[in-house]
Amino acid sequence: MIAAADIDRIVSEIDRASDEIVQFTVDLVRIPTVNPPGEAYETCAHFLGDYLKRRAFDVEYIVAEGRPEHTRRHPRVNVVGTRRGTGGGPVVHLNGHVDVVPAGEGWTVDPFGGVVRDGMIFGRGACDMKAGLAAAVFAADAIARAGVRLPGTIEISGTVDEESGGFAGVAYLAEHGRIAKERTDFVIIPEPLNVDRICIGHRGVYWFEVTARGKMGHGSMPFLGVSAIDGMGRLLQSVREQLRPALAARRTAVPVAPAGARYATININGIEGGQPLDGIQTPCVADLCRAVFDRRFLVEEGFEATKAEIAQLVARATSLAPDVRFDVRDLMVVHLANTPDDSPVIAALDRSIRRILGKPADLIASPGTYDHKHVAQIAGVPHCVAYGPGKLEMAHQPDEYCRIDDLVNATKVMALATLDLMDAGR
Ligand SMILES: [Zn+2]
Repeated sequence: MIAAADIDRIVSEIDRASDEIVQFTVDLVRIPTVNPPGEAYETCAHFLGDYLKRRAFDVEYIVAEGRPEHTRRHPRVNVVGTRRGTGGGPVVHLNGHVDVVPAGEGWTVDPFGGVVRDGMIFGRGACDMKAGLAAAVFAADAIARAGVRLPGTIEISGTVDEESGGFAGVAYLAEHGRIAKERTDFVIIPEPLNVDRICIGHRGVYWFEVTARGKMGHGSMPFLGVSAIDGMGRLLQSVREQLRPALAARRTAVPVAPAGARYATININGIEGGQPLDGIQTPCVADLCRAVFDRRFLVEEGFEATKAEIAQLVARATSLAPDVRFDVRDLMVVHLANTPDDSPVIAALDRSIRRILGKPADLIASPGTYDHKHVAQIAGVPHCVAYGPGKLEMAHQPDEYCRIDDLVNATKVMALATLDLMDAGR
């Protein structure tokens, strides 16, 4: 149990620091860490590192040497700050990604201006997830400012490339043992999942490419060729008529939010066939057509059955278009992430949310994946969740914003949960 007086001191330190927390978020938004291509990562890592150093953290910069996306022009620089406490208690690692998606169209404010208005911070990344990084930094700092003894170790990392898979970021730290089950007890990722919700994982992802091969022929005599586009059409027909209704009937018991994502889904990322449309046209039957699919699968389905179902679907298309040859190539498989129900990190955040917001936490799972997968699957740390300020629906939108009261409340929740984990884990 954390002493009530300690809780009060930490909460009032965070209230007192609220302008600083807002300014820190604004400063982060003004560093345009746009991915792709990965702008200003080094500047952002040093901004975080310099602050953490001033607040008595040991700071390491971990550069993703050897990764193809790490270039001289766009270096992949991660930062980790460590503050060791006195009790030999557990290590709580707070991880946020520094990269943001491109601004895109439709903004009414400067996406990198860090505008603060009507109790909100606006900007690309304000919600996803620079507010979360600020919350992590000030959650840790408030414990020190309040003079409360730290019975374990706090680590804060700012990592790159989450939006493009996290391979030079959290995956790199996990592969190099910086986040590992031998040294890391609990991980909280302050992604914008709403201030009263704890995210316990995500559905699985299966990206695959289907190639249909036909036979060239003269366009005036298409019956002498075999159209790969027609063949792909057969496959798409099976997807629409057979697969989609089957997927729409499969609902997971995992509380994925929004509720529409509680079902198994498939999306067609892109399709390409025949001659390029902008080039000079010649009368040809298309001998090649390719499409990339994004299948999100449920824990109840599992990967093997998901993959087998696609193979069956392709076999059916082959029977409908016997002259076309279909090949399936796996592009990416992300296995499910699912925090154990009885994980102390869920319990600690739930207790802190009750204390700060006066209500129990909602447990949700994310429709898309995030760095949780690398923590669970490469580092082997099961006790990982996402919890942080900002609304999930605002992520990647024009006029993205984070509410200041959510930011301050999430900072309090993270501070109390961090102490709670150290206390319970001793
Ligand atoms: Zn994010």
